[in-house]
Amino acid sequence: MKDVLIIGGGSAGIGAAETLLAMGKSVAIVDSAPFVGGVALELSCKGDVECTRCHVCMPRDAASRMRSSEAMEVYPLSTVGSATLGTKDIALEVRMSPRFVDPKKCIACGKCVAICPVKGALIPPPFGAIPNAPYLDKELCKHFQGGKCDLCANICPTQAFNFGAREKVVRVRARAVIVSTGLDPIDPSGVLHYGYGHLRNVISSLDAERMVAEYGELRRPSDGQRPKRIAIIQCVGSRTTKGGVEYCSKFCCKYGVRIARSIVERWPDTQVDFFYMDLRTFEPRFEALEWAVGKKNINISQGVAGIVQDSGNGNLKVRRTLPGDASIEEGEYDLIILTVGGQPRPESKVLASKLSLQVDPLGFISKDNRKKGVFVAGSCKSPMDIEESFADGKATAFAVLEWLGAMR
Ligand code: SF4
Ligand code: SF4
Repeated sequence: MKDVLIIGGGSAGIGAAETLLAMGKSVAIVDSAPFVGGVALELSCKGDVECTRCHVCMPRDAASRMRSSEAMEVYPLSTVGSATLGTKDIALEVRMSPRFVDPKKCIACGKCVAICPVKGALIPPPFGAIPNAPYLDKELCKHFQGGKCDLCANICPTQAFNFGAREKVVRVRARAVIVSTGLDPIDPSGVLHYGYGHLRNVISSLDAERMVAEYGELRRPSDGQRPKRIAIIQCVGSRTTKGGVEYCSKFCCKYGVRIARSIVERWPDTQVDFFYMDLRTFEPRFEALEWAVGKKNINISQGVAGIVQDSGNGNLKVRRTLPGDASIEEGEYDLIILTVGGQPRPESKVLASKLSLQVDPLGFISKDNRKKGVFVAGSCKSPMDIEESFADGKATAFAVLEWLGAMR
């Protein structure tokens, strides 16, 4: 039996796990993703010249510190089936999809990823990810899609591959549970007037992150050229009744400004126009914004873009109404980045009903079930950025420790 089972290994889950392990408790983490670590695994550090406090490193560093802990067990690619809330413990059925690579055998040499002929079929572990072993995507892998490939298995020096692996069902018991299922990014294709999904050079902030991770730079999807004029549009899918959610996602203003800063610091010949509805940084002093004010190649301007159109050569025209005199301004760009907000995961609602938690009308978990030892942490309660989620995970861990002590 584990002391605490954490459902959701993002920033809050990692923060909670680190605290619990440091206090001598045993922990299990269940996560539906191939790697435990959450959205921070997909984001790049925004501090190229100096730290901009993006806090991407916070959960990643914590996860890589915890990785070898013997008091921790990790169930990636897993979902919770049934849950039984007993008087002394909680029993959960965990369904784990096959990874086809045994993390206990893998030494993370990277040879399999290098030899794989199919892009995306074998995903290497990002820095800080748990487990530190690749994940094989069955939907893309030639071996499972009618081909004859077994290059990865043949080159692996530790025989870590098992193409015959099947779903496993395990029963995990714990004295307490922390639910920290986080948020899903909002799909910007629902905001029709920005053209995401049909205008090739309109990308989301997460697409931009993935692009930089893959190529080391931003590229226009239409021609592979590095964009010199970029518009960043804020509040995409947040604070809207059309194609998004009505609330403010809270983290995107700070995140968007940091992206803008990172772009002009890395590529000083780039002009970035940053369009916001109103800046909600939720901090008395936001250093990245102070830094940006007065810089020649970054223009931070109020007035959300109304419409994005193709100029015919892959370039994009942005038309927006300026606050004040309501005049119309038009600009042309090589690339548009839509900063997307977050929304509660559908799985949080399902889990909440299994663990007798309350969910508000927006889908956030509004009340835990401490009487039975079920706690809630991070952005599945309300929108939070990485730092706040990580801190909330730690605070929740202390509440759990107190509860476990009270039970003795
Ligand atoms: S079997 Fe072939 S296609 Fe599939 S992951 Fe291995 S190398 Fe890639
Ligand atoms: S070749 Fe084997 S040991 Fe090396 S990263 Fe791939 S699975 Fe791990």
